[in-house]
Amino acid sequence: MSPVRAAASKQNLRMLPSVDELIRTATAIGIAESAGQVYTAKLARRVIDEYRAELSSRPEMSKAEVLAEIEKRLDHAWQREQLTGTRRVINATGVIIHTNLGRAPLSANARQAVADAAGYCTLEYDLDTGKRGRRAARAEKQIVELTGAEDTLIVNNCAAAAFFVLTVFAAGGEVVISRGELVEIGGDFRIPDVLSQSGAELREVGTTNRTKLADYEKAITERTRLILRVHPSNYRIVGFTAMPDAAELAEFAHRHKLIIYEDLGSGAIVDFADLGLGDEPVAAKSIESGVDIITFSGDKLLGGPQAGIIAGKSELIAKLRNHPLYRVLRADKLTYAAVEATLAAYIRGTAREEIPVMQMLSQTSESLAKRVQDFVERLNKGPGKNNAFKLEVVDGQSAIGGGAAPGVGLETSLIAITHSKMTPIEIEKRLRASQPPVIARILDNRVVLDLRTVPEEDEPDLINAIRSEPPGERGG
Ligand SMILES: *Cc1c(COP(=O)(O)O)cnc(C)c1O
Repeated sequence: MSPVRAAASKQNLRMLPSVDELIRTATAIGIAESAGQVYTAKLARRVIDEYRAELSSRPEMSKAEVLAEIEKRLDHAWQREQLTGTRRVINATGVIIHTNLGRAPLSANARQAVADAAGYCTLEYDLDTGKRGRRAARAEKQIVELTGAEDTLIVNNCAAAAFFVLTVFAAGGEVVISRGELVEIGGDFRIPDVLSQSGAELREVGTTNRTKLADYEKAITERTRLILRVHPSNYRIVGFTAMPDAAELAEFAHRHKLIIYEDLGSGAIVDFADLGLGDEPVAAKSIESGVDIITFSGDKLLGGPQAGIIAGKSELIAKLRNHPLYRVLRADKLTYAAVEATLAAYIRGTAREEIPVMQMLSQTSESLAKRVQDFVERLNKGPGKNNAFKLEVVDGQSAIGGGAAPGVGLETSLIAITHSKMTPIEIEKRLRASQPPVIARILDNRVVLDLRTVPEEDEPDLINAIRSEPPGERGG
């Protein structure tokens, strides 16, 4: 270090504020209102320590300058912390079941049910008798109603459901599965890994694109416990392919006194064929085919909360219900409340109107084009019109996401945003920094917004986010 620098450093050290001085600043007092005194003091100490470590590289400054600088850093540190945690965002990506953005948004009824159940509720209480009731009794009845299964059970998520079924019915034995179904879903759910964790051994049969009943036949030994069918959610094998259907495989399994279990993944509780999702397996059809147990997610196409739904033969479900693992994997009251309210809409026949996932799937490209046109008009009118942005409507595709119906794109109208001075990355970042944050996509070097996944009531917030000047340019 040069003598001049060393002198500056020493001088600066004397200018460093104490924690006490820092927490008396207006910034710190403001932060303390939400963070609390104790935590603000900790944050203040951390910021001062960080600053001290950089002193040698700083020019000489006055006490007021140093304090102002550290105050600013304290504010930044707190702002950064505010960005973490679970917050509401506007999903303008057009990906309906966006795993990073909380998958299925809940219906208004489900949100209300969650809020109501957040206090005391009848989770395990029977209002009729005034005695202890069974957890999930209503939700289980609803799933029976909708799937035609003899009995059902709800656990924490579909991964837990698959692990549970395989552990209880196949641990120590072998599970036969087609090579075409040894899939990885979402990067952290791999069928072979779940199988080995459950203590079952994997017996792969057939080839990636073709598996026949004869292949299953050859693989059966006295150690075989279960035949597993997995819906290869997030990808498709097309072309020269063959797979026994659920009914054939069920008949085959029962002939060999084996359990047949099908993991539907996303699963459709009603037939989505008219929405162009013909490939998604329908829960009731699977049960009707004679499959013993099915599992599917609560927060994919069903449009409810994170949950794993297990449905099937009553003696098998009873075995699961009485197993200690059920206690380990059980869902909480908020989940049951949301599942019940979501399923009630399906039973009423109002799912298309009520469940956001269904609404978003059902929007036609014509209605979206109209919405986009209105939106752009509103954006171009009114106070604070932002001339620097250029908006253009272009055709595009929304995605279902959540590993459902890969390859199915839904026609949509996108709003492409460009700016004379900002790059697409800067625009995208700016939208992400707005309040609430707007999550957009970059396509062909332009930021695009898809209103399919933006509820109409969020449109004013989206307009504000696009109009608002970035913090540094205010008043310019
Ligand atoms: C998504 C999926 C899972 C995992 O479901 P989670 O509810 O996310 O745990 C399991 N199996 C299949 C086939 C899936 O598509």
